[in-house]
Amino acid sequence: MAIWNPDIECAKRSAIEAMQLERLKWSVSQAYDHVPMYHDKMVKAGVKPGDIQTLKDLSKIPLTCKTELREQYPFKLLAVPMHDVVRIHASSGTTGQPITGCYTRRDLDVWSECIARIATAGGVTADDIAQISFGYTLFTGAFGLHGGLEKIGCAIIPISSGNTERQIHIMRDFGSTVLIATPSYALYLCEMAQKMDALKDIKLRVGLFGAEASTEEMRTELENRFHILATENYGLTEVMGPGVSGECECKHGMHINEDCFLAEIIDPDTEEVLPMGAEGELVLTTLAKEAQPAIRYRTRDITRLIEERCPCGRTSLRMAKIKGRSDDMLIIRGVNVFPSQIESVLIGQQGIGPHYEIVVTRKDYTDHLQVKVELVDAALLDKYSELEALHRKIKADLRTVLQLDVEVTLVSPNTLKRFEGKAKRVSDLR
Ligand code: ADP
Ligand code: ZN
Repeated sequence: MAIWNPDIECAKRSAIEAMQLERLKWSVSQAYDHVPMYHDKMVKAGVKPGDIQTLKDLSKIPLTCKTELREQYPFKLLAVPMHDVVRIHASSGTTGQPITGCYTRRDLDVWSECIARIATAGGVTADDIAQISFGYTLFTGAFGLHGGLEKIGCAIIPISSGNTERQIHIMRDFGSTVLIATPSYALYLCEMAQKMDALKDIKLRVGLFGAEASTEEMRTELENRFHILATENYGLTEVMGPGVSGECECKHGMHINEDCFLAEIIDPDTEEVLPMGAEGELVLTTLAKEAQPAIRYRTRDITRLIEERCPCGRTSLRMAKIKGRSDDMLIIRGVNVFPSQIESVLIGQQGIGPHYEIVVTRKDYTDHLQVKVELVDAALLDKYSELEALHRKIKADLRTVLQLDVEVTLVSPNTLKRFEGKAKRVSDLR
């Protein structure tokens, strides 16, 4: 298993922490000196850059949330003159007004370095032919991966997302060995390949997936269908884009690029920093971003940090698979439900496909949760007792996991929406 930058990725904790502290001081000063929002927040809290003497001192600085960043739209977060900016991206706006992300030339270099590390960790080499099926748009996914894979020396196919049938032709004809996509799009691609009877001619061996939450069950489904090794990768526009962290071939947590990002886990309600290993909201601080530093940014993503040594030899902290965004969590009749819990129950069930939709409504002051799933075989619709048994089983399994009664609707094959980017499977109509 190759390691792209062993000096950093396998460094001693003390060396990494020393580097983090030095960079943290720099990053906080940049934000304080050049970004009015951070300056004002720190003044209000009575903290100065000079107060950062240890990594723990970071918690003296107030947290920053998404709404605050939105208020700085488009360029009020810049810490450098626009003259030094060479690229502008924006978040996909899944949850409202997009947030812009600006990069200096050096930021782009750091970005490719981070991607080169996690892609190598996921098994990508210079011999690979990589199909990038993330949209080449303002979205950070495609360009982020592109820079890093180019650094590794892969042959890149910048196909972007969409035109799914053509994706399969290209995958087969060009002999793509690596696929970059959201897990939901990868699933759709796989289905299309099956439909076109092309799966047997496809040479994929690695999938670098990310940009949305997905379960272990979804990973297994993709690995088995495509016969690949699938790794999970994480990032967000607010701090850079993809490349914050990614899994190695051991698939046990995403290695964080700790020389570039400092991770904390907080209790989302009390905002208190939680001890190592506890589950909570991930808070990130950039340590190397010139154009647009992010200080204690609340990602709203729920995870936990893993400090046990990874068999791959990397010494970096890892983050567990994201359980969901804190704002994805549905509260149904007082019970907390993450869409990922529903996904784990559904995927792999005999008789139904891996696509689903969740609809939440409120009737007579009571929350109502409906889960729509697709049958694999339309003929089942005519077999009442089998259909009824399947229906009962899914409902019972969901009840066991969620402790809730759920309305399960079985629909005909190929009728639920497919996604070419980030999936949107939940409609909360309350
Ligand atoms: P938006 O917030 O508009 O979707 P981005 O495109 O910047 O903007 O997406 C970043 C978000 O995507 C993260 O905060 C996280 O919620 C989600 N995300 C990215 N990678 C993963 C992943 N591997 N697992 C779960 N969620 C992810
Ligand atoms: Zn590892």
